[in-house]
Amino acid sequence: MSEHASVVVLGGGVVGLSTAYHLARAGVEDVVLLERGSLGEGSSCRAAGGVRAMFTDALNVELGLRSLEAYERFATDLGVDVDLHRVGYLFLVDSDEAMAAFAAAAPVQRSLGLEVRELSVAETVAASPLVSPDGLVGGVLSPRAGHCTPESVVAGYAAGARRHGARLHTGRAVTGVDVVDGVVTAVRTDAGPIATDTVVCATGAWSARVAAWAGVDLPVAALRRHVAITDEVPGLDPATPFTIEHSSSYYFHREGAGLLMGLPDRADVWTEDPRRDESWLEDLGEAVERRTPSLAETGIGIGWAGLYEMSPDHNALIGEATGPGAPSRFLYATGFSGHGFLMAPAVGEVVAALVMRRTPPIDVAALSVDRFTTAGARPELHVV
Ligand SMILES: Cc1cc2nc3c(=O)[nH]c(=O)nc-3n(C[C@H](O)[C@H](O)[C@H](O)COP(=O)(O)OP(=O)(O)OC[C@H]3O[C@@H](n4cnc5c(N)ncnc54)[C@H](O)[C@@H]3O)c2cc1C
Repeated sequence: MSEHASVVVLGGGVVGLSTAYHLARAGVEDVVLLERGSLGEGSSCRAAGGVRAMFTDALNVELGLRSLEAYERFATDLGVDVDLHRVGYLFLVDSDEAMAAFAAAAPVQRSLGLEVRELSVAETVAASPLVSPDGLVGGVLSPRAGHCTPESVVAGYAAGARRHGARLHTGRAVTGVDVVDGVVTAVRTDAGPIATDTVVCATGAWSARVAAWAGVDLPVAALRRHVAITDEVPGLDPATPFTIEHSSSYYFHREGAGLLMGLPDRADVWTEDPRRDESWLEDLGEAVERRTPSLAETGIGIGWAGLYEMSPDHNALIGEATGPGAPSRFLYATGFSGHGFLMAPAVGEVVAALVMRRTPPIDVAALSVDRFTTAGARPELHVV
């Protein structure tokens, strides 16, 4: 085999790129990343760009906070402006039960250093003036969070990884993983094999199929989600937070002179087909009229659909395959269930450490896929 790599990262989304960057920056030589299309074309460049750390699972708070810090330093560390708007992340809460669940999660969030504020209805509308107070019982605001531009993050990590010597191949599909006597020996691609003993699976919504080639079971399923960008919204407050209605998951944030809006499909559509379904716009219209009525006449410009990479408990799968039948040195970082963009900086750092057999900055042992056969599911409730 003429081609060789010390580590092959599968998938050129934000998670794979962050991993390749952190590996190369740490001095690992001969890092190769394989992307079958173009960098970020899977889910990463279709993301809404929301960044936050307000989760119910303490590990997610840690991953989110460390990533927020990395996004704050991104321009300095990687020389690329990712257009980070720290306008806050505001949940609109419309039941006492949901408010109690937010209140229950707050002590853990605060103990880890995340400021969260419970708001009255009046304070909620003052924070996000497009919102109708009808039916709300209040809001919960994380002031440090906000949104940034996925394409810039992808470009920044790609440039950084290359600068430190990683080789990123686009238009090169992985077609198999060779395992001999329990040891990874090569990654097969449509342009020939690459000899290696270490693989990182970061193929997002397609991870179950890719991992199966190495005999590893990663329960990840693709779920379609839409977003749309409105025409100009006159008088739009530049400080508008990333605003999301907890019960419906209708959300919006400022995007140029208009807003980026998202809403789950009426019924979950489990598919790898990321094409838009125009009927979604009717549902979006209803949500807009109900929760942000002043936008009812605002036109929609472009929009698109993409895939969430769902795990059974809506929590990430991060670790190294272990146990009987597992190949050696098959690592994975996937199943982020719609919050992989905001976690990518910390996850790349953590996975790079696991590859190098160093202690990672955050202990993610509990996110191993083994939890489904040992400790049990670890549900994350603040997934939208
Ligand atoms: C509409 C929408 C809005 C979202 N909004 C947010 C948000 O606001 N905040 C947030 O944190 N997250 C958000 N997400 C989720 C986020 O986009 C994902 O969690 C994140 O991009 C996952 O990154 P990834 O690198 O794991 O996967 P991907 O970006 O999907 O990268 C995986 C890559 O693997 C490649 N690949 C697959 N199979 C192969 C193969 N055989 N060979 C080679 N390459 C292969 C794919 O082409 C793909 O590029 C959103 C997602 C969608 C769809």
